[in-house]
Amino acid sequence: MQVTLLGTGNPIPDPNRAGPATLVRTAGATVLADCGRGAVMRLAGAGVLPFMLDAVLVTHLHSDHLTDLNDVITTNWVMSPVARPLRVYGPPRLQEVVDGTLAALAPDVSYRIAHHDDLVEGPVVEVTEVAPGDEFTIGSATVRVGATDHRPVEPTVAFRIDDDATSVVLGGDGVPCAGLDDLCRGAAAYVQTVVRDDIVRMIPSPRLQDILDYHSTVEQAAQTATRAGVRTLVLTHYVPGLAPGQEDEWRALAAAHFDGEIVLGDDLTSVEC
Ligand SMILES: [Zn+2]
Ligand SMILES: [Zn+2]
Repeated sequence: MQVTLLGTGNPIPDPNRAGPATLVRTAGATVLADCGRGAVMRLAGAGVLPFMLDAVLVTHLHSDHLTDLNDVITTNWVMSPVARPLRVYGPPRLQEVVDGTLAALAPDVSYRIAHHDDLVEGPVVEVTEVAPGDEFTIGSATVRVGATDHRPVEPTVAFRIDDDATSVVLGGDGVPCAGLDDLCRGAAAYVQTVVRDDIVRMIPSPRLQDILDYHSTVEQAAQTATRAGVRTLVLTHYVPGLAPGQEDEWRALAAAHFDGEIVLGDDLTSVEC
């Protein structure tokens, strides 16, 4: 199983970091988890086009995790050699988001159908709204859904993908909670979005201070990894953006609470698990 951080950025635009998105490739499944700014561009960088995806998983409906869903939908539709529905899994109200996205794409869809003789119907998106405890299969992979705590954003979920006798948890945004601990228990890898509260507290912006109470710090992510006994902790969605040369400083904060392997870095950083 290979896990690739497609986008390691946060909502603040960064020329070098795309928005939150992670690619999981197993022997029999290719899965995109969240699709933030630049997700399709980074997918191409990883050698994957949207029509090669078996599914898209959405941890929550914050815009930074969803801005490029429209691009995934359109590129899957236009580039797929045969009509291929896009399967998308996520929390309640995902259908509402997809319906709104398809409504915004309606003019484009009408132009392309009118222009291309071999394009006779619009994009088909199969939405499955999930809840903690749900389990489903994607190709050869089993996916389990767990609860996360990103309140006041509700509901939010994490996904655990088991395949190839190994596993990865996509934790999404949120503070530590029992649901996330349960999902992570014994996983090979755990991908968590993180903030540096020590840096953010020094920035005099009330809107930035607000993010501290609903994101895991680097230390909290490491503590979750230790409690759950995971082998590899993968940090992403750095707030503030991880500056070149700071990697060891971030890694040391996590290493104070976790003995296993710690992975962090630029977009397209990959780990085998
Ligand atoms: Zn969020
Ligand atoms: Zn986020």
